Amino acid sequence: MQITVARLKPLLFGKLLAYCNFFIQFRNQFGRAVLRFAAFKQKYLTVFGSIALSIGLPLSAPSSAWAMFYGFNQQAQAYEHEGDNLMDTGYYEQAISAYSQAINLLPYDAVQGRADALYARAVANDVAGHFDQASQDYSWARDYYLKAAQYANYGGSQAAEEGLTGGYDANFGQQLANLVRWRATVNPNSPDYFVDGGPMKAWSLRKMPLKVYIDDSQGTGWSQDLRDLIWRAISSWTNVSGSPIRFTQWYRADDADYIITRPSSSGQIAVGSGGFTSGVDEAQSENGKVMLKQSKSLLSCPGYDGSGYSQIDRNRLYNLALHECGHALGIGGHSPSGMDVMYWKAPILKLSDRDGATLRRMYSQ
Ligand SMILES: [Zn+2]
Repeated sequence: MQITVARLKPLLFGKLLAYCNFFIQFRNQFGRAVLRFAAFKQKYLTVFGSIALSIGLPLSAPSSAWAMFYGFNQQAQAYEHEGDNLMDTGYYEQAISAYSQAINLLPYDAVQGRADALYARAVANDVAGHFDQASQDYSWARDYYLKAAQYANYGGSQAAEEGLTGGYDANFGQQLANLVRWRATVNPNSPDYFVDGGPMKAWSLRKMPLKVYIDDSQGTGWSQDLRDLIWRAISSWTNVSGSPIRFTQWYRADDADYIITRPSSSGQIAVGSGGFTSGVDEAQSENGKVMLKQSKSLLSCPGYDGSGYSQIDRNRLYNLALHECGHALGIGGHSPSGMDVMYWKAPILKLSDRDGATLRRMYSQ
């Protein structure tokens, strides 16, 4: 039987796509909503003024409304970028402030922009441990994504020409709706997420050490340097206190237990995801528990060779390998706490106490 566990994580190009949509939607929106713009212009005049000044746009020019609107959007986008950078460098509280600035700058009918910024702030709140605020942001983001999908549908062929992504937004809105419902049932502060992060599978301890093949081919693998990085990341799961997991490096895919490769085309991983792990189950369960026969992780990253990688690129690959390995070891869902590696979008580089406790519980039953 095939199990699949997917992870939502914007990629470099995933992010880019989101930002493109952000711009396109906004421009289209303005074209259709001049009256609404006039209505909120008065309200936001001070903000407009300061933004226009800060980017050097003349307030009195005949086309000032257009220019100010554009500047407004640019400023919001700049704050969102700043938030992303702060997230990448571990300044979560500051990232929340930056995303809040972006949200405050955007008018209420800039649905796509508000959806993106609220979603980003939701994740930042979870990662900073503000679970209630995160839940609130997720439900607001859900509402705005669903609204964005509606707007795109109203736009008809024009919306299609502008590249609006109503289908994507509707889908994402539904995913967030599920997430909001799930969050109401979980406890991010319990000692582990064995119950919340299920369903759990496991490897038979008789199979240790598991044979791990990290692809070294040009097309779907990595250079020695990056294979070492991936190896160090996954080894965290063997080093955690009380871990029964052992790995050994294997140099062919045929009879490996765990295969780690890079997707050969972007279609292999859902838009917005960074990794994908699938598994094959053993025919026989042990003590009623489903056992794994083979796991395979696809890790997205810019390419074979890491020589052009920034430290942030390296951290992303490390984080992705660390997270997907948790799925490969049998964690079928995600932790509801942003402070765990197995949170669905955690940026951290070290297993938490809860990650360790969950692994021990999975393998002690
Ligand atoms: Zn995941």
